[in-house]
Amino acid sequence: MGKARYFAVLLIGCRWVIIFLGNQLDCLWQILTQCFNTIMNATKRYAIFETFQKINPKPRTELEYSNPFELLIAVILSAQATDISVNKATRKLYPIANTPEAIAALDVEGLKPYIRTIGLFNTKAENVIKTCKALIAEHNSEVPNTREALEALSGVGRKTANVVLNTAFGMPTMAVDTHIFRVSNRTKIAPGKNVLAVEKNLLKFVPKPFLVDAHHWLILHGRYTCLARKPKCQECAISHLCEFKEKTF
Ligand code: SF4
Repeated sequence: MGKARYFAVLLIGCRWVIIFLGNQLDCLWQILTQCFNTIMNATKRYAIFETFQKINPKPRTELEYSNPFELLIAVILSAQATDISVNKATRKLYPIANTPEAIAALDVEGLKPYIRTIGLFNTKAENVIKTCKALIAEHNSEVPNTREALEALSGVGRKTANVVLNTAFGMPTMAVDTHIFRVSNRTKIAPGKNVLAVEKNLLKFVPKPFLVDAHHWLILHGRYTCLARKPKCQECAISHLCEFKEKTF
């Protein structure tokens, strides 16, 4: 009995040692794989953004604006709407009213006719008027350049704040929309399960020289080349660098 018990304890001990070593090896393997991927992808990522830069050295938003205030209002209006539809509306609105005071003076009902063709225009009209009043009351009619102050405005969430900080103030922020989310995941530039994870990974992985313009390059690439249903891989300038397994050739 004594020997049998000793043998059983020995067996259990060996099992734990094997499990422990197995876990360590697994961890080591994961670390090595991650290191390898990071090194490999860093080179590819650089090449991808270098390519974007060669094709389009000064990428711009397709929203039409002439100052930070016009941009802010256009971005609020662009939620779940196309830039084309927003531009059509602001081309009529801005010649009449393009300051917080002038738009606030229109009030909700006066603003609606200008933005009626944009989705969710009722809610957007209310948000725009509240934002204009807040800018007048709290920011001397200027658009604030901090995330905290921007996100405190009506109709301004993280994505809108990121667009304004990046486009109006040149900060290296990433406003992850549906296009950027898709391109980042397909190419493996900065994969992530949700928009916040992709945003954080882009900030971590996009090479510094390209950080400020990356947002526009990725949106334009998703909008015109890496289309949701049928990406145009044949005419894609980064197809040799993209790691998407289901390219359409
Ligand atoms: S190769 Fe295809 S999937 Fe990859 S980025 Fe280009 S269009 Fe998108």
